[in-house]
Order: sequence, then structure tokens, then C-alpha cells
Amino acid sequence: MNYRHIYHAGNFADCMKHALLLALIRALKRKPAGFLVLDTHAGCGRYDLTSEEAEKTGEWRAGIGQLLNSPAAAPLAEYLDAVRPNVQDRHRYPGSPAFARAELRPQDQLIACELHPEDVRPLRRLFHADPQAAVHHRDGYEALRALLPPKDFKRGLVLIDPPFEKPDDFARCAEAVALIRNRFRAGIVAVWYPIKHRTPVRAFYTALQDAGIRDMLACEFLLRPPVDPSRLNGCGLLVVNAPFGFEDEARNILESLAVGLRSPDAEDIQITIERLAEE
Ligand code: SAM
Repeated sequence: MNYRHIYHAGNFADCMKHALLLALIRALKRKPAGFLVLDTHAGCGRYDLTSEEAEKTGEWRAGIGQLLNSPAAAPLAEYLDAVRPNVQDRHRYPGSPAFARAELRPQDQLIACELHPEDVRPLRRLFHADPQAAVHHRDGYEALRALLPPKDFKRGLVLIDPPFEKPDDFARCAEAVALIRNRFRAGIVAVWYPIKHRTPVRAFYTALQDAGIRDMLACEFLLRPPVDPSRLNGCGLLVVNAPFGFEDEARNILESLAVGLRSPDAEDIQITIERLAEE
């Protein structure tokens, strides 16, 4: 396991993923019944942007750093409000479990899985003695079999955000989506994936369609055409069973993000929201 998210925390891909994640969780909060957020690849939970690792790549500067210094568009307000106090006061960028935890009401629950021994430690510290957040040091894909269907919840969201350092990560994600649909039909599923080149992304979409998954939305954010597979040219969030109104909201969020993140290296940002399968 070589991947460490600290090198990438707060980059454009995190901004995209977390802005959409927040919109999905806020949609769950429209109903009073409690929900579960299951984060299968949770990371550290919070990232020090002044650390040697974060400074080494400096990726956050062209991501959340740039976004916080550009005029905030309304669709990004909730995301930026959630991030600003962490980044501006303490130079900390929240990870997905921290975003989720901050949104929970007393009736809601978070389960965060992380396999890397060095990353699970700060995650455990972050949620120490928190009755609403459980941290599991385990394989996130395997956790799906053990934890679904949820014992105490009929609604919720499963976020799958692997490092994509192994060649079979797209295939494992497609299998995971099918498993979640079988065991937790009412749950929303969100899978983040890199777009370096079109071929593996197309194969991922086809695998999901072939598995008969319905109600699928692919939200894509491309900094540049995905022709050089050695670069992270963009990223996507696949959403299954998206809440009502999410498609329009996601478009507004990504369009605002495209304006906020424009740079000489990303002059022609392209966004796409494609319905891969109807309900
Ligand atoms: N979701 C986090 C966020 O948005 O803040 C970032 C997660 S990072 C992209 C992927 C994480 O998955 C890494 O921390 C890595 O150590 C962890 N990981 C890798 N393989 C795993 C597995 N099989 N099960 C659980 N975690 C895994």
C-alpha cells in the first residue's frame, strides 16, 4: 500500500468529490429518519496542509487554495463554508469522514473503514469516544459484505473512494456497486474514480451497465482532454440512486467549480453529467 492521501488532500479532485458528497448528505437530511454513511476508503480524516507531504506536491494550492481565493459562487457556498474555518484558521483540510461526521444529526451514524495502519491511527483519534462514528481497520470492499444491509438503518450513503493504485480497482468498484444494490437497495452509492484515459472509464461504465445496475449518473470533471494516461486529467463521481434534484445540483456545483479552478494548466475545463442508466 503506497498511496497516501496527504499528498493530494484538497486538490481539484477532492474539491469535486467533497462538494458533491456534501450535496448528497444534505439531501439525505431532508427526511427526519436516521441514515448511515459508510465510507469504505476513509483516509486519515483530516490533513495538515503545512505538512512536508502536502507541501511536496502543493496540489492543494491549485485546488482548495485557489477556490477559497476566488469569488465564491452560490452552488459552492455550502462546501466552502464547511472547509473555510478548517483551512484558513488551522491549515487543515477535512477528509470525507470529517465532512460526513459534521453533517450527522443525533439519529445518524458514520462507519469509516481504512486499511493503511498509519492512516487509521489519526482517523481513530479524530473519532475517539464518538458514539456516532465507528472506525474499522479493515478492507473496505470486504466490509461491505459484513456491514450491509445495515442493522439499524433503512437509508444511507456508501462512498467508495479507493486509491486506484491496483489494476483491478475499477473492476472491484463495479462488483461493489452490484453488491450494495443487492443488499441495500434504498442506499445511495457514490464511487470516485480517476480519469487519466478514456478506455478504463468506458470499461467501468460498460461493466456496470452489463451488471444491470439502474439509475446511474456519471458526473465527470476534466481539466484537459484525457489523452496522456500518465496524468490525472480529471475525475468522476458515479452516483447510483441519486436523490431527487441531485442531477441539476451537481451540474451547478461542477460549473461553479470549473470557473473557480480555471488556471493556465486547466483553461478549458469540461464537465459532463451523463445518465448511464435510467431508473
Ligand atoms: N475518502 C478519503 C477522502 O475523501 O478524504 C480519501 C481516501 S484515499 C483516496 C484512499 C484511501 O484508501 C487511502 O487512505 C488508502 O490507505 C485506503 N485504502 C487502500 N486500500 C484499501 C482497502 N482495500 N480498504 C480500505 N482502505 C483502503
